[in-house]
Amino acid sequence: MDRTDLSVRDKDRYRRQLIIEGFGEDAQQRLGRATVGVLGIGGLGSPATMYLAAAGVGRILLVDDQVPEMSNLNRQVLHWLRDVSASRLKVESAAWKIKEMNEEVQVLERCERVTKESISSVLGEAEIILDCTDNFETRYALNAFCVETRKPFVHAGVEGLFGQITTIVPGETPCLRCLFPNPPPRKGELPILGAATGVFGSMQAAEAIKLITGVGDPLMGQMILGDLRTNVWERVEVQRDPDCPVCSGLGT
Ligand SMILES: [Zn+2]
Repeated sequence: MDRTDLSVRDKDRYRRQLIIEGFGEDAQQRLGRATVGVLGIGGLGSPATMYLAAAGVGRILLVDDQVPEMSNLNRQVLHWLRDVSASRLKVESAAWKIKEMNEEVQVLERCERVTKESISSVLGEAEIILDCTDNFETRYALNAFCVETRKPFVHAGVEGLFGQITTIVPGETPCLRCLFPNPPPRKGELPILGAATGVFGSMQAAEAIKLITGVGDPLMGQMILGDLRTNVWERVEVQRDPDCPVCSGLGT
């Protein structure tokens, strides 16, 4: 499809990424046409959404059914004291700031609880989804939906100063159930340092940008485990489970 050139304004706004090796105007236009879903606008979803918007992703679908609380503010940097005071929904709180950051980004607000039943109507438009949730029930619903529709998604999770991230492309990489056949036991309130969600949420945005533009190597078939407490980072190979109840039927 023929596309008009980037506007003078866009060439200026995105100048420093346009000069990245392998990037260029083509990659920028691909970002502008993309729709990325962010499931959970919390510690991971805040930085992820900000960097997607800053990079010029055309449409961002924000999914969250909660209102920010005071105890969210140490890490959920898209939500501010005024949003807590106003009891503004997280999708609304995020949307007004994203529009201020980049007026060209179309923000779609979905204040809905994601379940197995609702997920296709909530996230059907997204071509790539960031798993920024905090529970495995929702993650499994997302995983099943993405395997069924063959949508790539980027999983991340953080506890304390530790985080993990992997990019899942159904049919090519392990799915989340291959990696986590059973949900980890619920622990109640998890400790979390905001800087840790900042690191891993930013990496999720970078993974989505890489998948859309074709620049760089997405974290497919690999998981990064990083601990900011010790600064030990590992990148491990992960394998598909041939008996996975979710993805074993998919070819490679
Ligand atoms: Zn699987």
